[in-house]
Amino acid sequence: MTSEWRRRDGRIGVLTGAGISTDSGIPDFRGPRGVWTKDPIAELLSTYDNYLADPELRQRAWLARRDNPAWRARPNAAHTALAALARAGRAVTIITQNIDRLHQRAGFAADRVIEIHGNMFEVVCVECDYQTTMAATLDRVAAGEADPPCPDCGGVLKSATIMFGQQMDRRTMMKAALTAETSDIFLAIGSSLQVEPAASMCAIAVQSGADLVIVNAEPTPYDSMATEIIREPIGTAVPRLVAEILEAGA
Ligand code: NAD
Repeated sequence: MTSEWRRRDGRIGVLTGAGISTDSGIPDFRGPRGVWTKDPIAELLSTYDNYLADPELRQRAWLARRDNPAWRARPNAAHTALAALARAGRAVTIITQNIDRLHQRAGFAADRVIEIHGNMFEVVCVECDYQTTMAATLDRVAAGEADPPCPDCGGVLKSATIMFGQQMDRRTMMKAALTAETSDIFLAIGSSLQVEPAASMCAIAVQSGADLVIVNAEPTPYDSMATEIIREPIGTAVPRLVAEILEAGA
């Protein structure tokens, strides 16, 4: 029975993608109203080599960060439900592709959120160890530096996010893989599961014995591995699933 997985009482791994934050007003990339669906060229601009090579592109990127809806966004019912699941005593670890920090803002413990694509609130230098906040860097942009260089070495600054063509952080990916391997239930929520190696966490979880449950409006390449696929909107599906898991374990 597809519903049986709810009764498993072990660890819960959760992979979240942009779809969990659309109800908070942050558009996804590949959904019907996604940023890249509407403007396919925008995808080309998210590559690391282009960013390093093109100062005009970097100017555009800083303005896009300034105008990003994530600054004003609040956690929604799905973020809050996952935080409540952990607060109820279940061992939950979130692997997120999102850079918006809404899980932490919903009250989920920061040390149980693995941000595999980084976050947009910090800025790093690509040449040296310099780090600062996005807010401080955007102040420099507002003060007239269209593409602010590193104050220590003059190198290129960028948000602490992982762009296409950029190396993933090895330790972060090992933590994510370990989470997938040790999960009994693995929920994939709001991801088109097209970005690797993030999506392959689903396969690692299934190969290690987890039940995979996919909550996403559209089909994904991992649907054939799933114990259950839920197409209902995330804002209602996730609070309902959390209630069912807690009820089954009570
Ligand atoms: P994606 O855009 O490729 O896929 C999102 C999926 O969620 C789509 O299949 C869409 O149909 C589904 N979806 C959207 N809203 C939904 C809802 N309310 N209910 C049910 N399904 C819904 O997203 P991805 O797989 O996360 O890949 C995009 C990459 O871009 C990520 O790696 C991430 O780093 C980045 N990104 C992050 C944010 C953010 O931080 N909020 C936003 C956009 C993109």
